[in-house]
Amino acid sequence: MNTNKIALSLLCLFAIAGCSTVKLPDISSNSVEGIESYVKDWPLLTEKIEHLSYSELHQKCGSQKPKGAEQAKIFGCSEINLVNKTCTIFLPNNYESWALAHEKEHCKGGDHDNIIQDYYNKWIIYNNQKKTN
Ligand SMILES: [Zn+2]
Repeated sequence: MNTNKIALSLLCLFAIAGCSTVKLPDISSNSVEGIESYVKDWPLLTEKIEHLSYSELHQKCGSQKPKGAEQAKIFGCSEINLVNKTCTIFLPNNYESWALAHEKEHCKGGDHDNIIQDYYNKWIIYNNQKKTN
């Protein structure tokens, strides 16, 4: 079984765009910057935080940048693995506190742009396939 197949690295693009001009979406009270919704029935993940130098951070998170965002600054990213139930947060040494808060929410199923939901859906399909094999 290749668990890497459904492992996923997530990059915080909202955070990058959100540093100055982006208007926050209208979301409810205890909201964390950039988090729009939460995936239902999200499992509990083991959270780990790793601090990296900026060049290491670029290596770890940079490949996830979508087209058009190549110049964007990286504030952090999370690697979520639902097979192993782990969520590793990567941050620079002098990280912004909101970046940590944002990534922590990803570990709890916090979502934007349906990134986490898509991954969760894939994981469900993967589990169902495993059962029938
Ligand atoms: Zn994010």
